[in-house]
Amino acid sequence: MKQIHLLGIPFDGKSSYAGGPRLAPARIREEMQSSAYNVYSENMRPVLDDASLHICDDLVLTDYEDILAALKKSVSAEHPFLFLGGDHSITYPIVETLNALHGPFHILHFDAHCDLYDEFEGDRFSHACPFARIMENDLASSLTQVGIRTMTPHQLEQSEKYGVEVYEMKDIAHFDPRSLDGPIYISFDLDVIDPAFAPGISHREPGGLGLRTIIDWLQELDAPVIGADIVEYNPLRDVDGITAGVCYKLVKEMLDVLSRAPEALLREKSL
Ligand code: MN
Ligand code: MN
Repeated sequence: MKQIHLLGIPFDGKSSYAGGPRLAPARIREEMQSSAYNVYSENMRPVLDDASLHICDDLVLTDYEDILAALKKSVSAEHPFLFLGGDHSITYPIVETLNALHGPFHILHFDAHCDLYDEFEGDRFSHACPFARIMENDLASSLTQVGIRTMTPHQLEQSEKYGVEVYEMKDIAHFDPRSLDGPIYISFDLDVIDPAFAPGISHREPGGLGLRTIIDWLQELDAPVIGADIVEYNPLRDVDGITAGVCYKLVKEMLDVLSRAPEALLREKSL
């Protein structure tokens, strides 16, 4: 089995409302090491053992340029990467880096929010803007957003401009993960989950998904996944570590998805 690299980016300098996601990578790793759990995914892959998972040192950084430069040094095409944020602004430099390494890929984005603002409170690099930057710079072949429940007229206009496929919560029954083409990058904002299950986030938007539905979708994905991020966990807003436990479970199932990416796909593009 190929080794997945786990890379924390404890950066929340672009959060518009509440700080705290910078504390997430360390808290999630602590949870992953808890003796309450075993190392296997539901498909019985030993995703958390040392042979399967390499834990990289965190990238401690201060802005977009910095993050981009550090990622270009740290990320290689031979291993699938799972990135732990941090706020959602980190996805723009991550996608830019992976695009240079792998060529074009599709993005599957789970979120309560579109994050398609052209600018937010005067900042084009805000955590409310990463997918506007990604699409205007042609860094993804397509963008599919799932779980949205905060649409605005401006963001609807943006999603039409960039040809985004949006599955809002009110239409969620139409989403079928088996219809997606690969290769895929998954960007997972924890606030897509209903805050009743994952309260440790900055923007609690009720009416979201249960983790079981998401795990079922991850297990149904046919297309190869070359990388993923889990962002916006805010330990300062967590309740009794409930959200840390959700992150641990999500990390395991995401590692299982990444371990299914064919080796050839990674090597082929690494030249
Ligand atoms: Mn969000
Ligand atoms: Mn987001």
